[in-house]
Order: sequence, then structure tokens, then C-alpha cells
Amino acid sequence: MLGLMQNQPLLISSLIDFAERHHGGGEIVSRRVEGDIHRYTYKDVASRSRQVANALDAMKLAFSDRVATLAWNGYRHLELYFGVSGSGRVLHTLNPRLHPEQIAWIVNHAEDQVLCFDTTFVPIIQAIHKHLTTVKHFVALCDADKLPADSGIPGLQSYEAWIGQQPDTYRWPEFDENSASSMCYTSGTTGNPKAALYSHRSTMLHAFAGALPDALNMSARDAVLPVVPMFHVNAWGLPYSAAMTGCKMVFPGPAMDGKSIFELIESEKVSFAAGVPTVWQMMLSHMAANDLTFSTLKRTVIGGSACPPAMITAFNDQYGVEVLHAWGMTEMSPLGTVCTLKNKHQALSSEDKMKVRLKQGRAIFGVDMKIVDPDGKEQPWDGKAFGDLLVKGPWIIADYFKAEGGSPLVDGWFPTGDVATIDPDGYMQITDRSKDVIKSGGEWISSIDVENIAVAHPAVAMAACIGVKHPKWDERPIIAVVRKPGATVTREELLAFYEGKIAKWQVPDDVVFVDAIPLGGTGKMQKTKLREQLKDYVLPGI
Ligand code: AMP
Repeated sequence: MLGLMQNQPLLISSLIDFAERHHGGGEIVSRRVEGDIHRYTYKDVASRSRQVANALDAMKLAFSDRVATLAWNGYRHLELYFGVSGSGRVLHTLNPRLHPEQIAWIVNHAEDQVLCFDTTFVPIIQAIHKHLTTVKHFVALCDADKLPADSGIPGLQSYEAWIGQQPDTYRWPEFDENSASSMCYTSGTTGNPKAALYSHRSTMLHAFAGALPDALNMSARDAVLPVVPMFHVNAWGLPYSAAMTGCKMVFPGPAMDGKSIFELIESEKVSFAAGVPTVWQMMLSHMAANDLTFSTLKRTVIGGSACPPAMITAFNDQYGVEVLHAWGMTEMSPLGTVCTLKNKHQALSSEDKMKVRLKQGRAIFGVDMKIVDPDGKEQPWDGKAFGDLLVKGPWIIADYFKAEGGSPLVDGWFPTGDVATIDPDGYMQITDRSKDVIKSGGEWISSIDVENIAVAHPAVAMAACIGVKHPKWDERPIIAVVRKPGATVTREELLAFYEGKIAKWQVPDDVVFVDAIPLGGTGKMQKTKLREQLKDYVLPGI
């Protein structure tokens, strides 16, 4: 017997309809490429999203056709989020930090028909447009009078002229909730990038779960600042969860430096922010140097790479801001776990609370996880045993877009490529990417633990731990370190800093000072490149 409930598909268009009706006056504030601050409301987003939908209809774009964006976080990008997906097309967010050749490859692979870009990225489009085989329309996200002159980009039109001639009434189509809504290519450290193809259903369920109190805890009383880019996994789903809850949105545009981000948090009374550790590092340095404090920020979600303990302490103890350490992947829409404490933790000392906060957190409802050994045998949740982390759930990929070589799933589970422990309370802690694991004398050493200690040293700006071949121990860890500008620390001082913090055999054998650690398009350390750079390195005494 079937239930007798209305069978309404979960569609992204319903989010903007809801926000318009129930939070029509809710503010959306954006720092624009032009440098000024733009502000309007959910009502405006809704009406301009409908203009986008009409403009796509006028271009005769078919259902599921791809519309690409190369854009910062801002209001026009938000309108494309709703107008493109809501009208049944697929929003394809491109990462401008990738090499132009890689961007061109991705656009052709996705078969994008329209490419909308911020004027910042005109040089990228100029460099690649001749190599794009499927794009028929180029749209610059600007006013008609700001359209770059003599750009050489064929048929280039301004976004404002493009949507401006369209009516703001539109009936959102109803279709299967499993239809594709947006796509995002992984950074692809080896081989060509691969795309996660999200559906309306997966996006909506992810938005519900993301807004929950033990996830990102979003509400109509919040003002959220997504520093995490809208071109990377839909800014962790924040635009959708914000529309669902009526949360004010504040977009930083291209100004990601510490000063600009801090000023935006203060001027817009931001209560909740989200970003990767590198962004917060810049902001905390700016605040420390200028003796600043927050007046409205209550919590910040940090993920994408392991959040160093020193950062959690700085936010928590110095500024009274709760850090939510979170973990996820492009393939997971991206939220998998968020670290919020349970009731039983409230009475712990701040040191013991810190031990919990450092973990990547508990699974949010919808995500199931397990850790397995190399033979696929499930490992206990005792906080000690570690293994390859596998996940499953309704917003985790079943396959990559146009994938070759079959589904990545193993018995229905997606192998994350991360190695982790899970404790009896369900808190997961990433120790490494499986390809970065260091095995020494038969024991595994967590490179993240080793790095976290180094970056807690006041003279260290960034640190990456890698394994180097050793005749007796198989591998030994060394740490590559970038010093803070003007700071000094010697190899011996840094090695002494490890004393009492981890077991002796886990302390790196050597410190290599470097000018920079190679970073990928999403700000993650690229250890393969670092290993290449250090390929002639020999351990002391070998
Ligand atoms: P991406 O698909 O580019 O978002 O990268 C996903 C990968 O980033 C994960 O598989 C992890 O290796 C890493 N990652 C994400 N969040 C964290 C975190 N909080 N701690 C450690 N690694 C993380």
C-alpha cells in the first residue's frame, strides 16, 4: 500500500520561490568586481532568476543543456544558480584557478553551450575561446556599458543586456527530481579532471541536512558569508540552504584578503562564515597585526583541508567564535561530517574539548561511513584503528559524468581516498589521503598530525609532511616548512618543538625550509609536486 501524500518532486526552483514568498525582504549583499557594494533582496534574486530562465529559453537551450560560469561569489552568480537549474538546465561552475588549457578541456568535455564569466576572467576567455568546440554564447557578468571593448570574444554580450530584455514572470517547469541540476569537476591531481553531476533531489536533500543544527545550523536570524567559492562544490551548498532558511547572504566577490573579509564581516554583521583554512589564516594575521576583534561573528565552518589546532584555539579563545570543523568532497556535494560536540562533552576541560574539535566530526544524517583495511575488512570504531574511509548516501556520486572504466563504487560504497579513524561516539578523524600515508617500520604516521604541530610554532606559516624512502624503516617522515615573513626558526628548534607532543618515532627526521609549498586550484597542498621538487633529497645520515 502506498502512502497517500502529495508526490511533489524536490526541485531547486522551489527554494527561490519559497525565499521570495517568505523572506522576500531578506538581504543579499555582494562586493562586486567593480569594488563597490551591491545590495538587494531575495525578491530581486527570484525575479532576476526568472529573467535568466527566459533568456535561456530565448537561446533555445534544451533541457539538461549545460551553462557554465567562471565567476566569483556574487549576486549574479546566485541568479544563475536558480535560473539555470530551475529552468531544467545544468549549471556548470568552472574553477578559474585551473590552468586555461584545463578549463578549455573541461568546457569541451561538459559540452557547455553558454559561458557566463566575470570581467576579471576576460584574459582566460580570450586565451581559450578558439579551442571551445561547443560554446555558442559568451556572456560577461556586467552592465552593458562595462562590456570589455575589442575583446575579440565572439558575440560577447553583457549579462544585464541579456536578461534585461526578458520578462520577470516565468512558470518553473516540473520534472523528475533525479534530473541533473549542476556539475563540478574535481581538481584531478592525476589524469584528467572528473565531474560530479548533482541532481535536484541530491541538492535539495543536502540543503535540508546542511541546515540542521548539528550541521551548519542556519536560520533566518543568521547572516552567512560564504568565502568558500561558488565555483567549488556549490559553495558547500550554502546558497541552497540559505534560500531554504531565509538566511541573509554576504558575498566577498574577488576580495579574499584578510582585511576585506574582516571588514565585510563587521559591516554586514555576519554571524556565520565558511571557508578553507588558508583564507582564515590571512584574516587572523590581519586581525592580530591590527588588534581587531569581532562584534557579530558567532561561528565559522572550516574544511577542505585539516584545520590546524592553532586556528581553532585562536577563533575560540581569542575571539569567542565557535569553529565547526567539517569534512567532505566534491563527490559528496560536499558535506559528510561536521564536528559539533555532544551533551556528554560539555563538562570536559577545554583541553579535552579541543581533542574532539580537532576531529573532522560526526556524519550528518544521510551519510553512512565505514573504515576498512586493505582486504576490505571493516575496522572497529575505537578511535585507534584506521583504514580507508568509504561512504554512501543520497548526495554521494554513483558515477562520474561520461566516466570511462566503470563505477567507482565498491559494493555500493564510494571510496573517498582518505584514511581515517572513527571513535565510539562516531567522530571521524582523517589521518591522511591514502596516497600520502607514511609507513615507517610497519606503523602508519599521520602526516596531518605532524603538520599540525609544525604550524602551531609561531614562526611557521605552512608545513607539509611527506615520507622519504629509508633502507631500514621503509619510509621516514620529513617536514617541508615555509617560515612566516621575517620570522626565524632553525631545524633543531623545530625538531625540539615536537618533544612530548607525539611519539619519538613519529617525529620527522628532518626539516626542509622552502619558499612555498605547491597549492592546487582549490588551495590544497600538492604533495605529488612537492615530492617531485624534493626528488634528489637524501635523509641525514643515509
Ligand atoms: P575536494 O573534492 O577538492 O573538495 O577535496 C576533498 C578532499 O579534501 C577530501 O577527500 C579530503 O582529503 C580533503 N579534506 C576535506 N575536508 C577536510 C578536512 N576537514 N580535513 C582534512 N582533509 C579534508
